[in-house]
Amino acid sequence: MRVDFHIHTSASDGTLEPASIFSMAKGLNLDGLAITDHDTVGAVAASKKIAKELDMLCISGLELSCNEDGTSIHVLAYGVDYNSQKLLSYLSHYRNGKLLRLNNILNKLSILGLPITADELGADIKNPNRVHIAKVMVRKNYVKNKRQAFNEYLGEGKKAYSTYEKPSASDGIKFLSEIGAITVIAHPSLIKLPREEIITQITKWKTLGLGGIEAYHPSHSCSENAFWHSIARSNGLLVTGGSDFHCNITTSENHGYLGQMLPMWPSAKQDTDTILQFIKEEAYL
Ligand SMILES: [Zn+2]
Ligand SMILES: [Zn+2]
Repeated sequence: MRVDFHIHTSASDGTLEPASIFSMAKGLNLDGLAITDHDTVGAVAASKKIAKELDMLCISGLELSCNEDGTSIHVLAYGVDYNSQKLLSYLSHYRNGKLLRLNNILNKLSILGLPITADELGADIKNPNRVHIAKVMVRKNYVKNKRQAFNEYLGEGKKAYSTYEKPSASDGIKFLSEIGAITVIAHPSLIKLPREEIITQITKWKTLGLGGIEAYHPSHSCSENAFWHSIARSNGLLVTGGSDFHCNITTSENHGYLGQMLPMWPSAKQDTDTILQFIKEEAYL
């Protein structure tokens, strides 16, 4: 079973619709994908329909943006009940905070002489991410490219940056585990904390329901992949891997191509079988 466990669609900050992503994946001989959009399960129902038509596997998932003592932490969830009212209201609470943040950023940009209207964001306004603002900034020739938009304006601590309320990783893991999802710490090497501290946190998160570690990610070096693999094993946690696919032409070292991590993940087959066994409800597969 060849599965990519980390995929973004246009329901969050990816550029492609589920139909294009699944047909590309089919062309690459993948057996399935986990749809893990940022803070939304908006593309899961459509993805499942397409996967079924193509005789592929679609794992319902999401990637929850969390904060732990000021550090950004992403929590992946698999086997998510995407119709759960409890989940949808949890996500919509935090989405409202994201909309407030959008207004703050647009205000700051306007003060800097770089006005952007809500209309210019188009459909992206439904689940606004900074990358959507960056796209408009490029279109309006405020910056040369998205990288410059982040480096000068939208990145953490930059001129138009604004944060928003996020759940703590502990709260997110506890909540998602309680609704029956498998929770996994995404790309641990991107967490801006010393390794020892991340490992201490992982032990704590395990008591709250943490199920695994995304050991294999495009932002990790080979030795980092192996390191997080061994940390997961020694803590009795699942090992996962994914490309963090956002679009077919990728310029970020943090985002990869479909199936990119599979050749680097020697135990992918066994680990995938184990993860699938843990997703009890067939409806979420
Ligand atoms: Zn992430
Ligand atoms: Zn991601």
